[in-house]
Parts: sequence; structure tokens; C-alpha cells
Amino acid sequence: MGWSVNIGTIAGTAVRIHVTFLLFLVWIFVASYMSGGPQAAWNSTAFMVLLFACVLAHEFGHIFTARVFGVATPDVTLLPIGGVARLERIPEKPQEEFLIAIAGPLINVAIAFGLVAFAGANLDARHLAAVESARISMVDRLAAVNLFLAAFNMIPAFPMDGGRVLRALLAIRLGFVRATEVAATIGQWVAFGLGFLGLLYNPMLIFIAIFVYLAAASEARLVSLRAMSRGVPVSSAMVTQFVTLAPEAHIDEAVETLLRTNQSEFPVVDSGGRLVGLLGRGDMIRALKQLGPDARVAEAMTTQVPTIGYRQTLDEAFRILQTKSRQAGRADHLRDVGRDAAGGRGDAERLSLGPMGPPRGVSYPSPKGRVGAVQVGCFRLGPIL
Ligand SMILES: [Zn+2]
Repeated sequence: MGWSVNIGTIAGTAVRIHVTFLLFLVWIFVASYMSGGPQAAWNSTAFMVLLFACVLAHEFGHIFTARVFGVATPDVTLLPIGGVARLERIPEKPQEEFLIAIAGPLINVAIAFGLVAFAGANLDARHLAAVESARISMVDRLAAVNLFLAAFNMIPAFPMDGGRVLRALLAIRLGFVRATEVAATIGQWVAFGLGFLGLLYNPMLIFIAIFVYLAAASEARLVSLRAMSRGVPVSSAMVTQFVTLAPEAHIDEAVETLLRTNQSEFPVVDSGGRLVGLLGRGDMIRALKQLGPDARVAEAMTTQVPTIGYRQTLDEAFRILQTKSRQAGRADHLRDVGRDAAGGRGDAERLSLGPMGPPRGVSYPSPKGRVGAVQVGCFRLGPIL
């Protein structure tokens, strides 16, 4: 996520703070200073920092549970609206998704009861109602707000944890795709309800409702796209008409090719038609700037390119794209190039995760074997808050 500051790494997951969150803290400080003086300003800011430590603990509830099921999380970002953990993928086994989703809210419940048991926090109903009041002790407020976080996240709508819990429970009986459709529909009704309450009581709820509505729609779209791709071979979606470059070609030739075609990425193949790398527009610009127009394509290309065989299925391609996009840390644009080792003919396929769009494809015969490309839509994963 752009505009984020890395503040450290916890158990292999980078913890990042979005700039807007820092501005939010400054705003809290200034606003409390104006209304209550320096003491109030420090109190409110300390409360916010502790609150976001609880949000972070919630995220790590998801992260550590996901890790038990072999799902890594490259980073987690704190925003004024909460935390976003970028899980590499969401498991399709209902039990696993259920446990990962519920772990976050359970952490907040545990914190609330821990504060009651060990710090003497008082979970009075009046405190729950007046959580923003500075007259109530910080421990009481933290306990109350943790219970609120747990409850808010259990709203049964995507992208809340409650939406994932609901989908997982439905999936035990209905299967993943149907469960997602039902959960998304329920989530959209919940969004309508929230929006209506927002009209009556709090405009903030309207924004949350719009967000929830769109998230439900995109989750349903993503899952149906994946369901459609199930069992469909890569070969039927791959791009087979495209231009390749030779590793010994000069960068200025590559740039001419870039201008001549509508491709933005070029497989680099050796004289035997084998894929040796991938050269994108960004690589060309970098090479022109740093090495000059006489540099060779081989010096500028990306060589670490994951592969997929053309007989493998599109949903497998999706899985690789998700995993690799998390690893590369670039959600909106990344590419995987492949060589079909199993085919033994130097066949290669390229996967490209471009901007949102349905799968499309072309195919290109090289001297030996085939090189193809697949483009699929881009999507984000990860529970929010
Ligand atoms: Zn969560």
C-alpha cells in the first residue's frame, strides 16, 4: 500500500502505518488540546495508540492462525479505519477460513476480559455507551472498545470477519461458491440496513454501508470467476499472438518493438525458442536510464519468473498469481513467466496479473514449442479490521 511507513517486522510480517493514520493521531492531539489542554491531548493520543495496538493484536490473531494453515502474510497496514492484513490467500476449506476469521474478534474479547481480570476494568453498560468520554478511566474505555471491535467485526457481511465466518459456516453445506453467493446477498442486505440506520442516526454508517455493499459484490464476482476457471486449461485462455525479444537484442530495439505493438511485456526467448526471461516497459525505462540504449535485453530482463504448464488449470494459475503477487508485494501489476518442464519441449506460458478484467488470451508459436500468455483480473485479499 502506498504512503505507508514500515515500523518493524513481527514474526516475519512487516508492520506498516499509513500516513493518514499518523495525520489522524496529530488531529486527535490537536483537537483534544484545543478542548481540554495538554493533559487531555496526551490522554486521547495515548488511548488511540493503545486502541490501535489492540487492532494490531486482532490482525495478528488472523495472521498467526493463517500461518498454522500454511498461509503467509507479507504485511499488515494500520489505517485510520483499522488494520489490513494481506493474507497470501484465503483457504477454501471452510474450517480453516472459519478459524482464521474468528481468531481476530476472539483476540479482542480476550483483551477485554484480560483487562477486567487483571487491570480491574469495569465493563459497566453505561461505560459501553459513553466510550468516548474522557471522564471514564482509560482501562474501562479500552475494555469497552475491544468488545465493540469484536462485535463490529462480527457483522455478517464482507469484508468483515463476520462475513467470512458466515461464508465458512454456509460452505460446510452449500460448497464454497454457493456459500459465497448467499453470504454476499446477506451482506448486501446488511449494508442496506446499515445505510438506513446511517440516514437516521449517523452519516458515518452510510460510508461503511457503501463499502460493505461493494466488498460483497466484488467477493461474489471473484469467487464466481474462480469457479468458472475451475477445470479450464491454461491453454484455452492464454495469449498466443505476441512478439518476443532475443536476449542479445539492444534495449533501443526493445523500445521500438514496444512502440510498434500494444504489448507492454515481452517474453525473452533464446535461439532454441526457450523462455529465458521477461522484459517489461518499466525494465526498459530503467535500463535506458541506467545502462543506455546499447544495453542488451538480457541485462535488463527479469529472470525469476514462476511458470505454469499449459495443461494445468486456470484456477491453479489464479492460485500462483495470488501467492506470487503477495510475495512480490505488488498487488496491481505483476507477471509470472513459465516453462512447461513436464512437456519437455520448452513450452512456456506467461501469466500476467494486470488491471481488473476477465481472462483473455492469444497464442504464439516459437521455433520450438509454444509460448503463450494469460491475463487475468487483479484482486485483493485480506480481511479488514
Ligand atoms: Zn479481522
